[in-house]
Amino acid sequence: MASVHPLDKPLAQQRRGARLILKRLSERYPEIATALSYQDPWELLVATVLSAQTTDENVNRVTPVLFATWPHPEDLATANPEDLEEVVYSTGYYRQKTKSLLALAADVVDRFGGEVPRDFDDMVTLRGVGRKTASVVLAEAWGDPAIAVDTHVNRVANRLGLTANSDPVKIEHDLKNLFLENTWAGVSMRFIQFGREVCDARRPRCWDCPLRDRCPFEPKTRRPRETT
Ligand code: SF4
Repeated sequence: MASVHPLDKPLAQQRRGARLILKRLSERYPEIATALSYQDPWELLVATVLSAQTTDENVNRVTPVLFATWPHPEDLATANPEDLEEVVYSTGYYRQKTKSLLALAADVVDRFGGEVPRDFDDMVTLRGVGRKTASVVLAEAWGDPAIAVDTHVNRVANRLGLTANSDPVKIEHDLKNLFLENTWAGVSMRFIQFGREVCDARRPRCWDCPLRDRCPFEPKTRRPRETT
């Protein structure tokens, strides 16, 4: 008999299923945090902006120089663009990232007294800061209830039947509807790590997956040697 897709079940059952998934991911990744290095919300905000289209490792190689040169938003707001371009060059898209960081620093200084606002609606008014970046900073720097939806969260949530949407805002809404608010801050990083390690975009490791019995995705992959 064909099993019922999670999204066709009553909401209470969907929530129980989703929370079981998060429980298993929490057991697999009891302590999880962004791999970006930072000392405070400002540094995480800058690092997150720089992390677009590159690895966290690349960003971590650049940010020590950046923060040693321009420690505070006030310093970065008045940085020479060419000097900043040189520092962020290796993270790619360096011209755009330089412009974003200068505008971001100016906004933080001019409108928030040099402090990153601890408020989602305020944060997304900063130039270069979208929902994903704001959610990362709120959840990671403060542990505030926020869910950042990136490509991994999108893929894993869809495969596990926690959403049928592709739009990140709708996915965020769907996930918030399923998980308890006091667990939101721990959702994204666990989904991202799981997406990297197990539920890979091109070749998910279904044979080795702790969520296999909860997952409606088909066809599930088999151990490579079984397919040869
Ligand atoms: S069973 Fe496969 S598709 Fe489903 S969550 Fe696990 S790895 Fe991803």
